[in-house]
Amino acid sequence: MNNKGFTTRLIHADRLINQPESGAVHQATNNSVLFEFKRAQELVDVFQGKQTGHVYSRSSSSSTVALQNILNNLEGGAGAVTFATGMAAITATMLSLFKAGDHLILSRFLFGNTRSLTETMESLGISLSFVDVTDLTKVEKVLQVNTKAVFLETIANPVTQVADLTAIGRWCSANQLLFIIDTTMTPPNLFDAKSVLASLTISSLTKYIAGHGNVLGGAVVDCGTFDWSKFDNILDIYRGAAVAQWGLTQIRKRGLRDMGGTLAPDSAHAISVGLETLVLRTQRICDNALRLARYLQSHPKIAKVYYPGLADHPQHARAKELFKGFGGILSLDLADGIDPIAFLDQLKLVICATHLGDTRTLALPVASTIYFESSAEQRKQMGVNDNMIRMSIGIEDFEDLVSDFDQAFSHF
Ligand SMILES: *Cc1c(COP(=O)(O)O)cnc(C)c1O
Repeated sequence: MNNKGFTTRLIHADRLINQPESGAVHQATNNSVLFEFKRAQELVDVFQGKQTGHVYSRSSSSSTVALQNILNNLEGGAGAVTFATGMAAITATMLSLFKAGDHLILSRFLFGNTRSLTETMESLGISLSFVDVTDLTKVEKVLQVNTKAVFLETIANPVTQVADLTAIGRWCSANQLLFIIDTTMTPPNLFDAKSVLASLTISSLTKYIAGHGNVLGGAVVDCGTFDWSKFDNILDIYRGAAVAQWGLTQIRKRGLRDMGGTLAPDSAHAISVGLETLVLRTQRICDNALRLARYLQSHPKIAKVYYPGLADHPQHARAKELFKGFGGILSLDLADGIDPIAFLDQLKLVICATHLGDTRTLALPVASTIYFESSAEQRKQMGVNDNMIRMSIGIEDFEDLVSDFDQAFSHF
C-alpha cells in the first residue's frame, strides 16, 4: 500500500487499512455510544488497556479509529487521534502535554484562534515566546532551560510567511524539544512532515482534508520521530504502552477522554469521503492560486500580492524545496484609496466568508475581521495591512475567477 501513489492510497485506504465488513468500500458509520461486553472481565481488560476495544465513544469508536488509521498512514506516523475541530486538537495537545512552569516557543504568525488560545495557556502558567519562525536564529535566542517545544505553522495565514522548517526541526531534535507543526495549509500530499523531523502534526481537517465546507474536524498525528522517554511531563500511568505511544496516550486520555472534544462518527465519514479527492482538489487549487497570483501581481489596482509561489516572495526558494505546491492562500493589498469592504461587495463569484481550504474561492477583509481584536501595533508585527484581503482559492475554472476580478476592479 505505501509504495502506491498518493491518490491510489487515498481512495483505497478504507478498504485496505480498515477492511470494512461485507466488501463495503467505506467503513460503516457507527453511532453507538456504548459497547456491550459479554464477559465483564473483557470490559475490565479494555478499560485497563490490556485488550483493544471501545468502551465509550467519547474516547473511541470504530468510525473515528478508521479515520485515524488513514490519517496516520498518509503521514507514515506512529498513530493519530481525531478531534471535533482543529481548535479542539490544538487545545487538547497543549493542555495535555504542558504544565505551569514550562516554556514554549511559538510562531509570531499564528492562526487567529490559536493566538487567542495562547492567552488561556499563559493564564495557566505556561510561559510563551513568540518569534519570527522564518529565521532559526530568532528561535535559538529564546531557548530556556524549561523550554519544552516549538509550535508553528507551515505557511502562515494571511501573510504566507514560510517557516524555516528544516533548520528548526534539526535544532529541536538536537535540543530534545518537541517540534509541533500545524500542517493545515499543507496536507500530507504537499508536505512530508517527517522529512523536517516533526514530532507531532496537528491539522484542521475542516480545511483541505475534508475540503467541501460541510464538516468540522481536527487531528494530531505522532510522526514517530520523538523519544518520549526524554519528555518528563508524561504521567506514570500513561507510560504503560510502548514508548512510541506515550505522547498520544496522554493526549488521548487527557485531551480527548477528559476534555471531551470528540469527533462525531458521521463527521469522520464525511471527512474520509472528502479526503478521497484531496490530491485532485489541491493540485487544481495550487494551480489556480499561482496563475491568479501572477495575474493580480501585475494589476494596477493592487499594491502587493502575497503568495509563496511568486519568485519575489521572501521564502519562495524554501517553499519550493519543502512543498509540492504553494498552497491555496493568496493575500493582497489593494492600491491606496480602494476600500476592501467596497471591493469585496463587488465580487460576484468569489464568496465573502471566513473559511479556507474549500472548493469555492473565498475572500475576507483581514484587519477588520480576524485581527479586529489586535492593536494596530500587533497587526503591524504580523505584517497585516489595513487594506489587505485574504483569499482562499478554490477549484473554479480559472477564467471565471479572472473575469470576476476584472468586473470588480472596473468599479474603481
Ligand atoms: C482553521 C484552522 C485551525 C482551526 O481549525 P477548526 O477546524 O476551524 O477548529 C487551526 N489552524 C489553522 C492553521 C487553521 O487554518
